[in-house]
Amino acid sequence: MYRGRFAPSPTGPLHFGSLVAAVGSYLDAKAHGGAQHSEWLLRIEDIDTPRNVAGAADDILRTLEAFGMAWDGPVVYQSARTDAYQAALEQLRSRGTLYGCACTRREIADSGIHGIDGPVYPGTCSGGLPAGRAARALRVRTQGAHITFEDYIQGTITQDIEQEVGDFVVGRADGLMAYQLAVVVDDAAQEITNVVRGADLLDSTPRQILLQRLLELPTPHYAHLPVAINDKGEKLSKQTRAHAISTQKPAPDLVNVLSFLGLQPPAELLQAGLTPLWEWAVTNWQYGRIPPLRSRLATG
Ligand code: GLU
Repeated sequence: MYRGRFAPSPTGPLHFGSLVAAVGSYLDAKAHGGAQHSEWLLRIEDIDTPRNVAGAADDILRTLEAFGMAWDGPVVYQSARTDAYQAALEQLRSRGTLYGCACTRREIADSGIHGIDGPVYPGTCSGGLPAGRAARALRVRTQGAHITFEDYIQGTITQDIEQEVGDFVVGRADGLMAYQLAVVVDDAAQEITNVVRGADLLDSTPRQILLQRLLELPTPHYAHLPVAINDKGEKLSKQTRAHAISTQKPAPDLVNVLSFLGLQPPAELLQAGLTPLWEWAVTNWQYGRIPPLRSRLATG
């Protein structure tokens, strides 16, 4: 059984960039054996509560419905799953792979080692907290973790996590769970076999694979789609004022997303409505057609 998912954060309405991840994960599920053999699940990643926007989750669900993208099973909300994340933290702690960290953002930035995702943690607290300091965050020891995986779109990815990222936070200083931990716990709980999402998360995947290994959870297959950028090279997002997808006329937006993903539906289908477009897209979906790029200029 193939089980895929779309896992948006409810920070605003869907825009072209997030619609690409929705459509890519949906088509990949549908192209893998149809309704009998695949499921496409929906998870609202509302764990980072300060970033949540009231009404955004419902807005996302309504937009998916307007596009004819029906999800399987109940929608999972991360905000209802904190016990599971806490249990995973305890499991990491009992294996001796967690440690409390007292460093402030400033102190870490001052260490001056730049990695692929901000400053590399220099390991200040890995041997114990400095005298008089209290733990703010919880970090995972990366000690020589070298992760290689085969991405269906981006090819072979290798990362030396200790060198390129450093010991990373799983329990945040503000008391919230980190995305890296929540996503791993949830992908396993939902028995996700295939993760299809934007390549902005490609650099996070080795951390997630490391956590899967430490927690003895299976590793799904990964396919990272190019991320949609604007003509200034910025990722489309709320911050770059990407415009919300309208629910009024989904077909032209769907065609734009398909073209972004390397699929050109025949012209006569453009007027035919959503159902024939989806059928054509499911039949023609192929990793080999998707440009193996980390980012690509948005066409929508
Ligand atoms: N919630 C994340 C986002 O919206 C996606 C997480 C994932 O697909 O793993 O960027």
